[in-house]
Amino acid sequence: MTVSKTGYYTHRDCWKHEMGPGHPECPARLDAIEDRLLVTGVADALQHCEVPLASLADIELAHDRMHVAALRGLSDRLIEEEAAGGPPYVQVDTDTSMNRHTWTAALRAAGAALAATDAVMAGEIENAFCSVRPPGHHATRTKAMGFCFFNNVAIAAKYALQRYNLKRVAVVDFDVHHGNGTEDILAGDPRALMVSIFQHPFYPYCGDQEPASNMLNVPVPAYTKGMEVRDIVDMVWMPRLESFKPEMIFVSAGFDAHREDDMGQLSLNEQDYAWITMRVKDVARRFARGRIVSCLEGGYMMGPLARSVEAHVRVLADL
Ligand SMILES: [Zn+2]
Repeated sequence: MTVSKTGYYTHRDCWKHEMGPGHPECPARLDAIEDRLLVTGVADALQHCEVPLASLADIELAHDRMHVAALRGLSDRLIEEEAAGGPPYVQVDTDTSMNRHTWTAALRAAGAALAATDAVMAGEIENAFCSVRPPGHHATRTKAMGFCFFNNVAIAAKYALQRYNLKRVAVVDFDVHHGNGTEDILAGDPRALMVSIFQHPFYPYCGDQEPASNMLNVPVPAYTKGMEVRDIVDMVWMPRLESFKPEMIFVSAGFDAHREDDMGQLSLNEQDYAWITMRVKDVARRFARGRIVSCLEGGYMMGPLARSVEAHVRVLADL
């Protein structure tokens, strides 16, 4: 059997973070993905990789030191107060809270993206999928929001630029929500290009203005269909990616634009996710030696999430 060229990064710590009963960004999401990859045999074709904790120095490539220290302080205080009979959660934003495991889970999620970057750059694997939570793309330089604490993709993109002295990295974001945090961190950095498509007007209610020349945002109205999204990818994303010639591509892989996911109102299906992944992979093969690190973002209906991740990973792994 040949060694797989696709790395799979996940860690039990990412299951322990949870934000309260009924919260859509829940540990069961990772179960759904893992079960699907196992039952379809896809898991057998992947290289299962170790996930370290990210160092604070690496987190601070993308985040303000005060943001990192504030989250750590909240976590420490929560653990102390919970031990003394206090509540098990602390709210950091209207829809986002921490439990005693959140801090470690967030460091694992970023650590997965960083380790995947190292393995891809070393040529040990061609590409990677990080099945991690908390997600990251709403986390700005200074703020946790929208279920996100640290911006896994932005941290890894900044790390790839610094550690490997890359000149050009691209971020592709197809989550139904605008990746405002990634935009906040990467806008104005000419070494990075972000291409995204998202429902608008919709949470987080921004991204429709041209924020910086290295951001290619395509807001689309509710009920946009998969075929229309494919046209946008071909006509808007692809020319820009081809002229940018990225040396590495990071994917904010949110699957909440699926037609069966009621978090958003776009109408993609798993074939659309496979198709978009093929396009991204084609650019990666032509300019970046195939180097892709993909990180889970949204996707809240278990069935469609699991099927969409399977479709995405099958393309990454040439299955
Ligand atoms: Zn989302």
